[in-house]
Amino acid sequence: MWQAEVRVDLDAIRDNVVALRSRTSAEVLVAVKADGYGHGMVPAARAALAGGATWLGVATLDEALTLRRAGIEAPVLAWLLSPGLPLHDGVAAGVDLSAATPELLDELAAAARQAGRPARVHLKLDTGLARGGAARADWPELFEAATKAQAGGDVEVVGVWSHFACADEPGHESVDRQLAAFHEGLELAGRHGIHPRYRHIANSAATLIRPDAHFDLVRVGIAAYGLSPIAGDTFGLRPAMTARARVTLAKRVPAGQGVSYGLTYTTPWETTLAVVPLGYGDGVPRHASNAGPVRIGGTVATIAGRVCMDQVVVDVGDEPVVAGDVATLFGPGDDGEPTADDWAAATGTINYEIVTRFGSSRVPRCYDGEVRP
Ligand SMILES: *Cc1c(COP(=O)(O)O)cnc(C)c1O
Repeated sequence: MWQAEVRVDLDAIRDNVVALRSRTSAEVLVAVKADGYGHGMVPAARAALAGGATWLGVATLDEALTLRRAGIEAPVLAWLLSPGLPLHDGVAAGVDLSAATPELLDELAAAARQAGRPARVHLKLDTGLARGGAARADWPELFEAATKAQAGGDVEVVGVWSHFACADEPGHESVDRQLAAFHEGLELAGRHGIHPRYRHIANSAATLIRPDAHFDLVRVGIAAYGLSPIAGDTFGLRPAMTARARVTLAKRVPAGQGVSYGLTYTTPWETTLAVVPLGYGDGVPRHASNAGPVRIGGTVATIAGRVCMDQVVVDVGDEPVVAGDVATLFGPGDDGEPTADDWAAATGTINYEIVTRFGSSRVPRCYDGEVRP
């Protein structure tokens, strides 16, 4: 018997990756950072590989090493590295690492000598996002340092890559500008004698709507989990996560009853309140106060009053709800339950954040499907 659970349909992740693969001739990297967007990093990685992904992507070195410790041998790229990390652990584990500065290339070369094998490096160019990546003026310096490190045998430049700012806004002019800058960067790399096996810039959105940005590898995250990065089109993807709990208490209360901390909700008439044991300590955004939709019994009701740390209260009206009934916050929508998109709309965020919030939480995660976690 469970009180609250996050169910993850690993077959949905696998099938989404199959569907994404059919849209491109490029190889597919699935981003499993942030605990697989809340779905569980290692199980999500296994499902992605079962769907034909040939690469996995993570932010941190620790995440990459966790994948290796789980016995996953597929290529892994880690792209967010502060100076001074034990990079030799990554090099020794055959993890591909991103570098945007000559200083990090120096660290990688030292790590390679320590690990006794070349560091596999992806050079990151900032083409307009202005987050990670070498600024345009610094590209020549980066390529010179990479050429030198490669000649010394400590570094193997496997990739040159970048990341979009607005690929989820179809027609946004920055996409063309970034793509043009990326082509220029690749040409400049070529003039430095760098001809990487993998050129990559596309995230889920660009994978779905910009085939001219696929190059040799696409990096999909949210789409693999069945959620669309682009408003108004699901692209036939299947959401993999369901968050639900069993009502701990249902009771009739009179009209005029204030509900939950601050009494910010008042019952308009005599009604049934259902207590659902999921709160902000589990991943429910507090912005869902008086806003988050929950399916209980045959109806979709709204959270009444403030989201608490461990629980929420739902006004279910005259629905015959009793303790033990299942309350579904979001899922694929098959039974009329809200979706992560509905939750994002209700709370002023994006579907990415809704599912990721449920990662590493106290709610047990259960896995469905043929793919073994
Ligand atoms: C998270 C991430 C991705 C995946 O982005 P989605 O929009 O989820 O497809 C791709 N590349 C980088 C660098 C990322 O950080």
